[in-house]
Amino acid sequence: MKKSTQSVRAGTQRDKNMGGLNTPLFSSSAIEYLDDTEVRYPRYFNTLNHAVVAEKMNALEQAEAGLVTSSGMAAISSIIFGLLESGDHIVFTEGLYGGTHALIVNELGRFGISYVFAAANTRSIEAAVTTDTRMIFVESPSNPLMTVVDLSAVAAFSRSRGIMTVIDNTFASPILQNPLNLGFDLVMHSGTKYLGGHSDLCCGTVNGSSELVAKVRNYATNHGGCLNAQDCHLLERSLKTLELRVRRQSDNAAVVASRLNSSKSIKNVYYPGLENDPGHEIAARQMDGFGGMLSFELADDIDPVKYLRRLELVICAVSLGGVETTICQPVATSHQKMSQSERQRLGITPGLLRLSVGIEDADDIVDDLLQALNPG
Ligand SMILES: *Cc1c(COP(=O)(O)O)cnc(C)c1O
Repeated sequence: MKKSTQSVRAGTQRDKNMGGLNTPLFSSSAIEYLDDTEVRYPRYFNTLNHAVVAEKMNALEQAEAGLVTSSGMAAISSIIFGLLESGDHIVFTEGLYGGTHALIVNELGRFGISYVFAAANTRSIEAAVTTDTRMIFVESPSNPLMTVVDLSAVAAFSRSRGIMTVIDNTFASPILQNPLNLGFDLVMHSGTKYLGGHSDLCCGTVNGSSELVAKVRNYATNHGGCLNAQDCHLLERSLKTLELRVRRQSDNAAVVASRLNSSKSIKNVYYPGLENDPGHEIAARQMDGFGGMLSFELADDIDPVKYLRRLELVICAVSLGGVETTICQPVATSHQKMSQSERQRLGITPGLLRLSVGIEDADDIVDDLLQALNPG
């Protein structure tokens, strides 16, 4: 099945009582067990609304197994703590989501897990590996500068060394990038973003082999990272339009990026779909479209906060991947907790704005972003 068909049909179990088209919502947390093959309980990730949406994600990520968690961070923390032990070492790429960065610097050391940040390219990742490295964790395209990592190259290297590879695939969505097919061991999403897509859900997903997912599930069961039935049901509904939404967002972003790129009031546009973008060639090879996320840097004479206040259509908000176009200033939001020197080194300046392009009309979005450049 193609992505659009999988989005609509995979996993979904039609209502047998009435012939309804949708999976019914099963809200029970207490479930009879005498005649079942397993004991079902929401926290065990084995109730029906969870199973259905997990199966849809398995199809979309071409995975053997999967898990839906209470947030993207629950997915990330369950992967790290469920698969590693004290003494292990992780290589992370630079330019990670701010919450992931906070988890790493605040929590890993206390449990004896060491780590290093490597620039988001194959050579730097390989050079950062030590004899204790058990996991390589990457984000591609990354937040907020849309850096692209060569996933096949990283996977091939890691496999030759027996190192696990994990990717945060949130920005690409399973529509545009399937890292398991490129050799990665595990793929996770903040389902709060594109998968939910309507800015009304908080959830996460993990996909990979049955063996690895079982370990992550055991950890998440012990530590309580499950998603409730209502939200599993809502996520299933959202995923039915995932292909439509992401294609439109990606097409819109291509228009926005090229129009912003030709404005004299904008210094840089970071979007792998632009032919002069450093990640363009690799992204064209490993992605099926360049996605709905981009960032741009205002000219020095434009005050970023005043620019944001002049926007009329585009909404100044955190999070991303919704049907509405949203924008944020990373220094004040996602990367607020990062030290100034670290931000400067990575190129996260006050004038850098991150745009999540929605499904509105592309010209309307562009017009608003351009009109706000003029102080009026
Ligand atoms: C939002 C986000 C996360 C964290 O997800 P939550 O659902 O907020 O826990 C992780 N990675 C990326 C790339 C994100 O955008």
